[in-house]
Amino acid sequence: MTLQAYLSRRVVTPEGIRPAGILVKGEQIQAVVTPEQIPASVEMHDFGEAAILPGLVDSHVHINEPGRTDWEGFETATRAAAAGGYTMLVDMPLNCLPATTTVAALTAKRETARGKCRVDWAAWGGVVSDNQADIEALAGAGVLGFKCFLIHPGLDGFTMVNEQQLRAALPHVARTGLPLLVHAELGGSVDAATAALGGADWKSHATYLGSRPDEAELAAIRLLISLCRECRFRLHIVHLSTCEGLPMLRAARAEGLPVSVETCPHYLHLAAETIRDGATLCKCAPPIRSRENREKLWQGLSEGAIDLVVTDHSPCPPPMKKLEEGNFKTAWGGIASLPVALPVMWTEASARGFALSDIARWMAEGPARLAGCHARKGRIAAGCDADFVVFEPEAEFVVAKERLHQRHPVSPYLGEKLRGVVRATYVRGKLVFAEGRFPGEPTGKEYRP
Ligand SMILES: [Zn+2]
Repeated sequence: MTLQAYLSRRVVTPEGIRPAGILVKGEQIQAVVTPEQIPASVEMHDFGEAAILPGLVDSHVHINEPGRTDWEGFETATRAAAAGGYTMLVDMPLNCLPATTTVAALTAKRETARGKCRVDWAAWGGVVSDNQADIEALAGAGVLGFKCFLIHPGLDGFTMVNEQQLRAALPHVARTGLPLLVHAELGGSVDAATAALGGADWKSHATYLGSRPDEAELAAIRLLISLCRECRFRLHIVHLSTCEGLPMLRAARAEGLPVSVETCPHYLHLAAETIRDGATLCKCAPPIRSRENREKLWQGLSEGAIDLVVTDHSPCPPPMKKLEEGNFKTAWGGIASLPVALPVMWTEASARGFALSDIARWMAEGPARLAGCHARKGRIAAGCDADFVVFEPEAEFVVAKERLHQRHPVSPYLGEKLRGVVRATYVRGKLVFAEGRFPGEPTGKEYRP
């Protein structure tokens, strides 16, 4: 096995950004050295001024396979991931058929994924109304944690949990030591807000926003923190959209509770004030809130109150976005962004004075830590998998359909000028994306703890 050296003036390591050579043997990083320390005998890949970041890890992706390959699938989701600089995805347990709520469903998922993946992947298991007895078995079979909903998830087949059902599940979850990822909105608040809207115009995003108030998120977070205090499980709040949740979450952490939180590029980039009538490509749940709220989410990231940024890549067949009617009530809620999430984030982050090391912390190391795979994923360091992305931070491009490598090239970002271009992506030392192409056979595999 020849020793390979990947050289750049800007290698993003946990210790900072510096000129370095990443020495790779087989699938692993053997050492990160100064350019002068690179042995003469190596095969050299010199990327000059282009930055090398750790391969991004997305712990919130809806791959939708088996069962809904007309929505997405392993082949297209992992291709989109490779193009976006992601080297590992963790798949959400819903929207696929069967939902990943039993070991048999996990086995079916593994079978369908075989031979299709361009990047590595792993699975979250579902906690639903009636599968308390499956939780520990799923952990034993290799899921990295669990996901549940406190509100109807938008699609039948994956049931939400009420407080009583959640209480029945929590001792099982706590025994596994794995995190429970929770969609934190309470149905009661949403139903009441929706009823109060009466005959409002559902072409307007303001109507949709009104139907999912901050209070729906806050009430759910309040409940979850108190359950976390009582049952001591690892609580993770997915896609926080309201900045008003931050003080509560900060206080929970100060109290020593094992609580973490994520947000998504769309909450950090879009703003309710600029969403046009009928622009249902911007529909997601919880909703995009105000510009002022967005800036406070950035502040939360800056202060470490928000741990990580993930895509919540959730595609659907284009007709389900109801673009003709432009109806925010009936359109599918979900934004697919794997191929552009890094430039969306970098455009916003660099404008606010953040560095590539912040991006690496939020989008690689943070999600890897949540998923428990940080010993091997999410960092450029000796002993880790040779997963990295070659990124040109100063280059700009306009988002066109050709760049959207997911199944359906549908996106609220189409036509936008973004900063930062992914030149190449490596997974365990193998080139999986370069200059718009996907060389070789798919060799991505499941990460098993
Ligand atoms: Zn989701």
